[in-house]
Parts: sequence; structure tokens; C-alpha cells
Amino acid sequence: MAKDFYAILGVPRTATADDIKKAYRTLSKELHPDKHKGDKGKEDTFKEVNEAYEVLNNPDKRKRYDQFGEAGANAGAGFGGGQGFGGFDFSGFNQQGGADFSDLFEGFFGGNAGRGRAREERGRDLEIHLTIDFMESVAGTTRTVQLKKQKMCDTCTGAGSEPGTQKITCPECNGTGQVTRTAQSFFGAIQQRTLCPRCGGSGKVPEKPCHTCKGEGRVSETVSTDINIPAGIADGQTLRLRGEGDAGRQHSPAGDLYVQISVRDDKRFVREGDDIHYVIDLSVLDAMLGTDVEVETVQGKTTMKIPEGTQPGQVFRLRDKGMPVLNTNRHGDHFVTANIKIPTRLSRGERKILEEWRKIS
Ligand code: ZN
Repeated sequence: MAKDFYAILGVPRTATADDIKKAYRTLSKELHPDKHKGDKGKEDTFKEVNEAYEVLNNPDKRKRYDQFGEAGANAGAGFGGGQGFGGFDFSGFNQQGGADFSDLFEGFFGGNAGRGRAREERGRDLEIHLTIDFMESVAGTTRTVQLKKQKMCDTCTGAGSEPGTQKITCPECNGTGQVTRTAQSFFGAIQQRTLCPRCGGSGKVPEKPCHTCKGEGRVSETVSTDINIPAGIADGQTLRLRGEGDAGRQHSPAGDLYVQISVRDDKRFVREGDDIHYVIDLSVLDAMLGTDVEVETVQGKTTMKIPEGTQPGQVFRLRDKGMPVLNTNRHGDHFVTANIKIPTRLSRGERKILEEWRKIS
């Protein structure tokens, strides 16, 4: 008996593509086998829902289904291999072929399984940690580190072939770069295509592997690497050095090197964004009468005017005397907070003057 795909999804024949998608999402969530382990009825309904969606979600198949019914929908729509790596093919479930369940499978397998291998071909990303002094973060600095990593093989210049020999068609995948594997799932065996593990998807392998790297095109070595740390870098920031991670297999792209930066505190300066906060001690007389003082900034010493009548905690701003703003020519500001020191002891002479002052004020 022919199945009514519209009834299975609970939508009218006039349903829009969105209606169908929505209905499918609701049903597949409800019926998901993870929630109904061992419930054969639910499992069958789940399969039906997927089958119905697979047809109604495809405008061509839907049109044929509307015209000719179930058989029409799948006619001439065999699995064409158009999905590329990580595509899935069903055995024992959809006998008609033509499966396109990518929506479904992302949920089950956490994405396309085929990509894992591709990542191994590319060199791994590496991560290191560097601690620098505060003033180094102001001026920028260079650190040379010794990194143990995969480096391109010098013997074969990364190709993996013994010098003077050629590459041949990979015998494992016959040059297609992919292999089919069978995986078990809750509704039977799944044919899963992945990158060929032997040639890594290139379809070619060295006729004679390089004797130094055994055909990998890369070797493990300790490499001295200069790391330029830009002026203005802040504690906790991470630099990314493209291509400085592990070399890829047989000329595949190299990984990146991530450098996490810690900046040691400075006794004088507190950084806030690109601004610097700094405290200056002033005598009560300087605060009252005003004076010129020398202050330290991250850019060096400078003289600033303390005006008459400066109050405790008063803040002065020195524009553009703060941190360099990363990758620009600009600077933050330097804020000076007045900390006014009240004398705790007075000489006899001082006391006399102050007593006089009290009398007249
Ligand atoms: Zn080599």
C-alpha cells in the first residue's frame, strides 16, 4: 500500500516547504530513537517520518510524488554520490536509495564523520604560553622559543617520496581518495564514505616512501621560533601565528601556533583598557599652593602642573600618555590620582606657624 507522506508528517497537500520543515523537526524530535530506546513502533514511525520528509523536502521529488505517488518520487533518483565526503548511504532502510538525511545525521553523529581524517592531514595547531614584563607589553618584545614540532622533511621537501621516485595511484582507494566503511547504527548498517586513510584523500601515494620521514613528508624536530609580541598586548591575549604549528602531511597545510600571553603586574602602573592609572604622593603644602612635579608614565618621565588647591583623590589626565593601542599609532591616556600626605609629626616651628594660621583663618 502506498504511503501518504503528507499524512505521516501531518501537513496538508498545500503545505509550504517551511511547514514541512517545521512539522518534520517537531516529529523527529518527539520520535528520536534516543528517547525511545527499544520501542519498535516509535522506531518505525521515525523511519516513516524521515522517508516522508526526504521526499517532500525535495521540490523535484515532491512534484513527482504528487504526480505519480511513492514510486515516482524515487524514480531515477538513485544515490548519486553528489554529497561528497561525509555523505551517508543507507542499507536496509531506504531500499529505493536516494537518501539525503544530512539534517538527521548531524544530530546523531555530531557532524560529518569524514572530516576527522582531513584534519589529521593538516598539521596540528600548537599552543604555548609566555609571560612577559609589564614594560615589555608597552614596547613590544621578541621571544625565541624552542618548539618540538612536526617540520617539513628536508630530504623529500615535504612530498613523502624518496628523491628521484614518483607518486603512484593509491592502491587502497584506487585513486578516488575515499573509502567506504560500514558502521552499525540503531536502524542497521550505514555505508559511510571517508577520506582514504592511506593517501589522505589525494589518491596518490609515494612509489617509494622517503627514507627520512617514512613517506609522511614531515619529521619531528625541535625548532627555534622567534615570536614577535606587539606593543600594547594585554594580559590574557592570544597571538596566532599562521602556519607555525605542525607541518601538514605530504604538503598539506601546516597548523597554526597560538601564543597565550601573560603580563606581570607593575608596581607603579595599573592598566585599564589602554589607559594607565598612577598615584602620586603630594605634600599638603604642594597640594594647597600648587607645584610642578615629575611623574612617571609608561612612555617615560614627564612634568605636570599641580594646581593650587588640589584635593585628596583628585584625578588629572595626561592625554595620549597611556598604553599604545594594539596595531595602531594611537595611545590611551595616563591618569594621575593625587594622594595627599598629611604630616603626622610637626616640629615646634611648624606648629607655631600653623597655630598662627589658625588664628587668622
Ligand atoms: Zn621525507
